[in-house]
Amino acid sequence: MATTPEAPVATQSKYEPVIGLEVHVQLLTKTKIFCGCSTQFGNPPNTNVCPVCLGLPGPLPVLNRQAVEFAVLASMALNCQINERSIFARKNYFYPDLPKGYQISQYDKPLAEHGYIEIPTPNGTKRIGITRVHMEEDAGKSLHDGLADSTQWTSIDLNRSGVPLIEIVSEPDISSPDEAWEYLTRLKEIILYTAVSDCNMEEGSLRCDANISIRPVAQQKFGTKTEIKNVNSFRFVRQALELEIARQEQVLESGGSITQETRLYNAAEGQTYSMRSKEQAHDYRYFPEPDLLPLVVDEAWRKQITAQLPELPEAKRKRLVEHYGITEADAATLTRTQSMADQFEEAASAAKNPKRVANLVQAELLGRLKVKGLEIEQSPISMKGIAFSADLVESGAISGKQLKELYDLAFERNEDFPAIYEKEKPQQITDTGAIEKMIDEVIAANPKQLEQYRAGKKTVAGFFVGQIMKASKGQANPALVNELLAKKLDS
Ligand code: ADP
Ligand code: ZN
Ligand code: MG
Repeated sequence: MATTPEAPVATQSKYEPVIGLEVHVQLLTKTKIFCGCSTQFGNPPNTNVCPVCLGLPGPLPVLNRQAVEFAVLASMALNCQINERSIFARKNYFYPDLPKGYQISQYDKPLAEHGYIEIPTPNGTKRIGITRVHMEEDAGKSLHDGLADSTQWTSIDLNRSGVPLIEIVSEPDISSPDEAWEYLTRLKEIILYTAVSDCNMEEGSLRCDANISIRPVAQQKFGTKTEIKNVNSFRFVRQALELEIARQEQVLESGGSITQETRLYNAAEGQTYSMRSKEQAHDYRYFPEPDLLPLVVDEAWRKQITAQLPELPEAKRKRLVEHYGITEADAATLTRTQSMADQFEEAASAAKNPKRVANLVQAELLGRLKVKGLEIEQSPISMKGIAFSADLVESGAISGKQLKELYDLAFERNEDFPAIYEKEKPQQITDTGAIEKMIDEVIAANPKQLEQYRAGKKTVAGFFVGQIMKASKGQANPALVNELLAKKLDS
């Protein structure tokens, strides 16, 4: 797990942070949650709209069955209990991009509760509770524009109005910015595995609000929290939390008290700013949505949805470790995405030594990707290519050094390993006669070592291998050298 230089300072502090995260995830349905409008991102403003999502008086919402199934699937993957009966509620507030004057959400009877996510920490695995997962509709989007004469315009795009979301609310179980980062990373990974969202933060498919307070170490009672809104990367969430912890400590240390408020994070300036305080906080006047029936997810439906649940990252990691004998670190890398894990499994089950495939990913692939700023999905060398190269090393057809050179070439030319290997196949001496001749010469030149070997010092064989490889300028097939040398020495 990543640690920051600030982490040790935080643990030495007389305060400890308490963090709870609220994450909005957009569901990948084709149509909106209460109408048939498209959810397509990037269409011209106000083209994916109808009387329902425009908030015109009269039309009634109709719940999207696929949205419910996705929400249940995500909730199950987050180890939640699904409430058989949940209630949609109106959350009333005014906002220019909220044409109805209320948002349909869920309140005291959410879809799912009592879940958890397991995260790795320096002290082992930790369970972060998930209080609830509820369904709601998204609001529209305000676009602020300035003109040359400094007139300010705000335009409203309602394409996003009525797009289905789930909100995932964590318990205040998170104790550091690093843990928050881990939680979000795991959460995104799990949701991606279920395929109910693309979790694309740039397009707003995943949004995070972070609640944070500090309290003196060993104090039970929570301190007053602030909320940091809509931070648009996990790295920025971690930074914003670090800054906010430092700010709250400073306030308390100088005898002040924390105001319950919403703050905005400015990544460019590295600061959080007060946006609104508790006194301005909304009273949403929730009440049950009269235009929708209670949502009933009975056992039969729940079972039907559960059957679509794929193997989740945690389970996959365990299985890969057991099945292929790879390390937990290898498994963590290889399960970062589902397609990556699938490719690995395909390659590893075809390769002679799956462990070598995993090692090559860690030792030879990841570093080169990092240098080039590539994600593993963008690697010029495919998993199949890695399996192929692993087999070549395994059989002694190429040396480790040659493999490195070929990997460098593959990255240089952006070609997969098998193609590079075909073109650049290292010259190899596989002619048995030629190798035997070299062996004979080396043995003849080193009578003392031969005597030692025959006297029982079998490790001297390594010396001979080294000499023969040197004599062949590294081009003799190592497997053949080993085989033929053993015959000669023992004859
Ligand atoms: P609100 O009523 O202000 O929305 P909630 O109780 O619904 O507050 O909690 C919202 C989020 O804030 C949850 O993720 C919860 O875990 C977290 N949270 C609640 N109290 C605290 C606190 N004192 N410090 C940090 N996080 C908190
Ligand atoms: Zn619509
Ligand atoms: Mg709340």
